[in-house]
Amino acid sequence: MNSALDIENLSVSYGKKIALENISLSIPAGQITGIIGPNGSGKSTLIKSAMNLIPANSGNVRMLGSELDKVRKRVSYVPQRESVDWDYPVSVFDVILMGRYRPGRLFLPLSAEDRKIAEESLERVQLTEYRNTQIGQLSGGQQQRVFIGRALAQRAELYLMDEPFAGVDAATEKAILDLMFDMKSQGQSIVLIHHDLVSVRDNFDHLVILKNKLIASGPTSEVFTTKNLIASYGGSMRIMQELDV
Ligand code: ADP
Ligand code: MG
Repeated sequence: MNSALDIENLSVSYGKKIALENISLSIPAGQITGIIGPNGSGKSTLIKSAMNLIPANSGNVRMLGSELDKVRKRVSYVPQRESVDWDYPVSVFDVILMGRYRPGRLFLPLSAEDRKIAEESLERVQLTEYRNTQIGQLSGGQQQRVFIGRALAQRAELYLMDEPFAGVDAATEKAILDLMFDMKSQGQSIVLIHHDLVSVRDNFDHLVILKNKLIASGPTSEVFTTKNLIASYGGSMRIMQELDV
């Protein structure tokens, strides 16, 4: 099976604090993969380090079977919403259009085709009526969709998303999920960090469970077990009862 993401012996620390310890895993292409674990378990660090946004102490990462530099434009990263300055004075359409810029052709004018793709992406995330709205004026769910719209405009093959469901309303959650299933049906690979355990079983093909070390990585049906969840989240009975695993 083709791999979307292969990580070998990845260790990352912030000063003396170890965020990730010797992680090795493979995420299959063409599937929806969830990365779960409690707060501080290294989920964001894993994606940022894989994207080369923060340095690793050691390790080797391959995306779509190659080094990131060779496939960067086929990979799209959607950061956590809180990590962005939403006061920046740009419109919804401006942000989505940014998905069409490429390293190396940053100063070239965008083509009519680029604009058309951005328009389609705007529509796919259901923000057409907010086209000219400044991004700071949107709700949390709408902001999340702007990000996803920008990622869609990139026409990537691998999407890495950091908590796309955090702070969104139920309607947006449903819209994002539908979009992901749609992307998967077109052969794209989706890897997303997720917080809410309740919806894991129904939505993810593959699951990575972290607690600064790798607890498990595999098909959801195999690794979404009480034992693995306790290893990651601790023995909170409330979580286990809610999930009935
Ligand atoms: P998660 O996304 O699972 O909540 P993170 O990857 O953000 O976890 O963080 C993993 C660990 O690294 C946490 O203990 C966190 O406090 C620490 N950490 C994350 N970012 C930084 C940073 N910029 N400086 C120092 N420590 C950090
Ligand atoms: Mg995080």
